[in-house]
Amino acid sequence: MKNYYQFSAEEVKQDINGKQEPLTAAEVKAHQEKFGPNELVEGKKKTTLQIFLEQYKDFLVIILIAAAIVSGFLGDAESAIVILIVITINAILGTVQTVKAEQSLASLKKLSGPEAKVLRDGSVVPIPSAEVTVGDIVMLDAGDYIPADGRLLESASLKVDESALTGESLGVEKMTDAIEGEVPLGDRTNMVYSGSFVTYGRGSFVVTGIGMETEVGKIASLLKTTSEKKTPLQVNLDQFGQKLSIIILVFCGILFGINVFRGGNIGDAFLFAVALAVAAIPEALSSIVTIVLSFGTQKMAKEHAIIRKLQAVEGLGSVSIICSDKTGTLTQNKMTVEQYYVNETVIPADKIDVKDSEQEKLMYFSILCNDSTNVDGVEIGDPTETALINLGSKLGLDIQKIRGEYPRESENPFDSDRKLMSTKHTIDETPIMVVKGAVDVIMGRTASIQCGDEVRAITPEDIEKIEAQNQSFSREGLRVLGFAYKAVSAEEELSLEDENNLTFLGLIAMMDPPREESMAAVAECKRAGIRPIMITGDHKVTAAAIAKRIGILEDESEACEGAVIDSMSDEELKNFVEGISVYARVSPEHKIRIVRAWQEKGNIVAMTGDGVNDAPALKQADIGVAMGITGSEVSKDAASMVLTDDNFATIVKAVENGRNVYQNIKNSIQFLLSGNFGAILAVLYASIAGLPVPFAPVHLLFINLLTDSLPAIALGLEPHSKKVMDEKPRPMNESILTKDFLTKIGTEGLCIGITTMIGFMIGLTGEGGNAVLASTMAFGTLCTARLVHGFNCKSDYPVIFSKRFWNNIYLIGAFLLGLVLITCVMTIPALDEVFKVQTLTFTQLLIVYGLALVNLPIIQLMKKIKLMFRKNK
Ligand code: ATP
Repeated sequence: MKNYYQFSAEEVKQDINGKQEPLTAAEVKAHQEKFGPNELVEGKKKTTLQIFLEQYKDFLVIILIAAAIVSGFLGDAESAIVILIVITINAILGTVQTVKAEQSLASLKKLSGPEAKVLRDGSVVPIPSAEVTVGDIVMLDAGDYIPADGRLLESASLKVDESALTGESLGVEKMTDAIEGEVPLGDRTNMVYSGSFVTYGRGSFVVTGIGMETEVGKIASLLKTTSEKKTPLQVNLDQFGQKLSIIILVFCGILFGINVFRGGNIGDAFLFAVALAVAAIPEALSSIVTIVLSFGTQKMAKEHAIIRKLQAVEGLGSVSIICSDKTGTLTQNKMTVEQYYVNETVIPADKIDVKDSEQEKLMYFSILCNDSTNVDGVEIGDPTETALINLGSKLGLDIQKIRGEYPRESENPFDSDRKLMSTKHTIDETPIMVVKGAVDVIMGRTASIQCGDEVRAITPEDIEKIEAQNQSFSREGLRVLGFAYKAVSAEEELSLEDENNLTFLGLIAMMDPPREESMAAVAECKRAGIRPIMITGDHKVTAAAIAKRIGILEDESEACEGAVIDSMSDEELKNFVEGISVYARVSPEHKIRIVRAWQEKGNIVAMTGDGVNDAPALKQADIGVAMGITGSEVSKDAASMVLTDDNFATIVKAVENGRNVYQNIKNSIQFLLSGNFGAILAVLYASIAGLPVPFAPVHLLFINLLTDSLPAIALGLEPHSKKVMDEKPRPMNESILTKDFLTKIGTEGLCIGITTMIGFMIGLTGEGGNAVLASTMAFGTLCTARLVHGFNCKSDYPVIFSKRFWNNIYLIGAFLLGLVLITCVMTIPALDEVFKVQTLTFTQLLIVYGLALVNLPIIQLMKKIKLMFRKNK
């Protein structure tokens, strides 16, 4: 490959595209076909067959295979075959679940994939980075990821963080001049490289390499592909599962010893111990979590919240503080100019007179010192800036013509730390720097003022008047920009030092109404024990006015400026944050300190961000939330959740989803563990009482591997309930297995165990009773009771007489399927041998159904009583 940095931008374009103009649509297509997608080839994905085979790696499955082999040797071919069939079905179920979960995660990744802005057919369009091709011209702004390697065509104070490639974390200043001789990558200042990002300024480049042909592609094989980390809940459950497994294995070992000691057949005793272990060990816990989480994320994506890290779903349920930007998140980000202020006069937007020299100047400056465009109604750029050009168009000005007449010669791009932007143009043969920005910043840099056609030194009275006007606009919730200018040198590029000794021209005030749904979302937050906090770069009075309107703030004293916290120690800040609901004029560093202070007070904090400088705060927050529409690519990359509608209400909805997903996972676990516990209790009772073994191994395998998995998953997909928002946030470090939860599992397991044993005793001692009949009835009761128990696990509240009882069609489906299966086993004589059962009479079948069903009213009543106690407390 050529050393493109040694050539001029024109030569590079000529070499790659054979012309200077951007590629046409047909050429783009041809290049895409020739060069392929702009993607790094990841490590090989597992095939479905590999996933299927992996199901057999499970410790329990290996034991089961051993058990099948032992059965075969002992001459019990039927048991061996049944075990193998059951394991295979289980493996198929496991494969389907894993593949589905992976697919849903992959589609999620696609949704939040990076984008790039390219010049196509004469206009700038956003496209997925994967579609960028060689020869494309890519536009860059602060916060953009560089999608491919390329030669710069234009650089307006462009600075790029290339630390991913060079390890150098300081932004590298970029320019466009050709470089002589060979230089290392870090010194090729006219090139940009895929994987780095823009920290400051603006620019454009022509793509010279994509995908594996980029510098980062060449080292991609060295980069470790990051595998999905387990979520805290999964880790917590894995640990619990391991401990429980050891206890159960010891217990099964003892039971095996007792059975052999009593003179039982060693083979049978072994099979039974294995089956009991399989029945009792909740091996599906962690995979249930994955499935439910991945389904939950799909629902959230439909509701405009894309989860980038699975951990975030759990975390969302614990969020107790939401720090939100104002502009665009709580407000509509649809700015319209309402008032002008020039020469001590307020002029409503519809009364602006472009023939008045001062008003005309303000209007022209607001069009020139502006990066936004509006082509045929398609607005590109910051809404603050589009508002300015929209007003110009409305008043009959030709924006393109004005910009063509006074082209931009140099610029200091906008940056939210400095809160200023300036551009240089030659007006009436004088090189002029136009500056716009936050009023307080502009006023701090102003030395003179324009009054009519005259310019004179600014007086304290002038400043007082301007500030009073700024306050008055702000109290109405208006966003105010100040405009100033000065003559500068014709030759030199603008520098930040130039932004001093300015001449004040006027103010422009614009309205950004709150989003309609913000008020309800804020109220819901408060009901759910979550504190909403506004953090904005805007003026304190404007921010407080809007915050009051949507209910975030009650009293002005709850608002402060970011600078106030500069002098505070971290300890002081910790006490201070409690009383503040609105932070104005904040810099990105303040955001990090505020998040940290709340975290140190034991809170789980969600924080929104959009700019490149917000990335550290987004990483610091427990749930970093990026804006899908207005957010920079860097902020999206740092976030764990991306809002596709930039809306505060979506965060609150996501919290509700997070709480519901957590609750559903908890319900599935409760279902699995209480059922398993019921089975263990029945076996334990029988062995202590010296009764025959209540279940044949195949019974336990049937229940655990077939009829139980579907209701457990169905419970995870339970429709969401609004009730979760009536509760306080769940403490993050609270283990899912609280005392209360374990007590519930214990009592419900006890009910199932008792009814199972009653079935067993009726089969053993009733008319025509025998050990096989007893075992059949115990098996039938346990299996059906567990299916019925699915409905108990829908909610902590009694649901038996409510519509909610019927609202989960997956659960009803799983129940009916399970019921048909178990009924077939109990009533079809041909299956007797295979399943070690005795065909039941109609009365016996009714007894089994009746016993299983009894669990419903009893457990529902227990919920009701518990609820009454909780209310009385
Ligand atoms: P939020 O932080 O809630 O998104 P914001 O948009 O006001 O609010 P910033 O983008 O950091 O926050 O802007 C900070 C301040 O800089 C604004 O209040 C405004 O005074 C000024 N400002 C915003 N946009 C521009 C711009 N394009 N050019 C010049 N000044 C601007």
